[in-house]
Amino acid sequence: MDGLMQPRPLTIAHILERAERLHAHKLVVTAGTERVTYAEVAEQTRRLATALNSLGVPAGARVGTFASNTRRHLELYLAVPITKRVLHSINIRLSAEHLEYIVNHAEDDVVFVDRALLPRIWPSADRMRKVRHWVVLPDGSDAVIPADPRVLDYDELVAGADPLEGSFEDSFTLADENLAAGLCYTSGTTGPPKGVLYSHRSTILHCLGTLAAGFIGLCESDVVMPIVPMFHANAWGLPYGAMMTGASLVLPGPSSDPAHLLRLMETERVTVAGAVPTVWTSLVPGLRSHDLSATRFLLGGGSAIAPALSEAYRDALGVPITHSWGMTEISPVGTIGGTRTRHRDATTQEQVAVRASQGQPLPLVRLRIADVETGAELPRDGKAVGELQVAGPWVSSAYFLVDSGDSFTADGWLRTGDLATIDADGYLRLVDRMKDLIKSGGEWISSVELESAIASHADVVEVAVVARPDPRWVERPVAYVVLRDGSAATGEELLRHITPMVAVWWLPDEVIFRAALPKTGTGKLSKSALRATT
Ligand code: ADP
Repeated sequence: MDGLMQPRPLTIAHILERAERLHAHKLVVTAGTERVTYAEVAEQTRRLATALNSLGVPAGARVGTFASNTRRHLELYLAVPITKRVLHSINIRLSAEHLEYIVNHAEDDVVFVDRALLPRIWPSADRMRKVRHWVVLPDGSDAVIPADPRVLDYDELVAGADPLEGSFEDSFTLADENLAAGLCYTSGTTGPPKGVLYSHRSTILHCLGTLAAGFIGLCESDVVMPIVPMFHANAWGLPYGAMMTGASLVLPGPSSDPAHLLRLMETERVTVAGAVPTVWTSLVPGLRSHDLSATRFLLGGGSAIAPALSEAYRDALGVPITHSWGMTEISPVGTIGGTRTRHRDATTQEQVAVRASQGQPLPLVRLRIADVETGAELPRDGKAVGELQVAGPWVSSAYFLVDSGDSFTADGWLRTGDLATIDADGYLRLVDRMKDLIKSGGEWISSVELESAIASHADVVEVAVVARPDPRWVERPVAYVVLRDGSAATGEELLRHITPMVAVWWLPDEVIFRAALPKTGTGKLSKSALRATT
């Protein structure tokens, strides 16, 4: 017997209409210079919906965005999916080759591009044959706008369109909740980029899952700053989550300069922010010279957060960095870390260790670990290390228009390529990415553990450990380290520092000092770039 509840679709239209009705006066601040209300964003969104119609963008067509975190980008986040088109947010740091590949693979019909970013994408325009229009998002830059009939101005386009009236929510049927709403490509560190196609339903459920108290738990009084780019897996759901709850949004705009980010956090009284560890690292020197007393929750993910980094925030602000594990394929949030009531009486050191783990799965997310060789499920005892597999309503089931190969198990779980343990309380601890593990003399060395140990030295700003081919041991670890300005620490000193923390045969063969380390398109340390030169 079926239940007798209303079968209503889950759609992103609800996020717009809720913010419009309930939180019209709340603010969206871009780069600290532009302030608009949700009412104004909604009005613009309704005009943009008409504009997309007048451009003849078909239902289901992909609409690309090549933009930083701004109010106009937020309007695209809303108008594109609620008119049943698909928002394809493109990573602005991709190589020309990858850019051309994904725009062509997605068959983007229109691309919206920040004026400042035109020089990065326009040279490829003629090789992106399906793109009929390039719409320039004004951003204060004076980059040259090509004299080309395909190029349009966003503000003119939107101002010239009437707001589309009525309820977008009512235009959705139950079947429509499974329509594609968003498309993000993985960064292609392991082959060509692969498209992950989110649905309305998955986006709304992910939003509700992350909003649960005890997880990201946003609320109306929050001021939320997604430092993580809106092209990086929907900025981890923070823009939709903020609008859903009525929290104000602070969008940093094009600059990721630490002084700019710290100033924004201070002047806008930001309560919640999310970023990858390299960004959190860059803010550490300025933490004590800014009033960040409004901060209540800092989210970190994309790579492991070394305990030393999280503790630097706890020391300075009283707020550690809460660890989250996720993937583009998982919308992207899978777990949230932090301590629970059972850790209240634990020692400080034990609590630091709990916070260093990737945490517990969000409601509706299921995790398991499997033996790498046999695929058999392994015990949740905090010791057995296996490949992490994940299932849930916001986990992808296939890649967009490519063979998914062996990315999914026979029973439909996503194989993450991460190695992990899960303990009896369901806490996930990532050991390493399979491809980053170092195989030495038939035994495995975790690059992540070595990095955490090295990062606990007070003079270390950034560290990445990678494998170097070795005739005797197959591979040996090598550490690349960025030291604080003026530090005279030597490789021997760093090795002495970590000796009590790791097995002797784990000690890196060499410590190489660099002024900076290479980063990926999403701002993570690029181990593949380091491996190539090691
Ligand atoms: P990319 O391959 O471009 O990095 P994603 O951003 O989707 O794409 O990265 C997902 C991967 O990032 C995960 O499979 C995992 O290896 C790593 N990762 C994400 N969050 C964490 C975390 N909190 N700790 C350690 N690794 C993480």
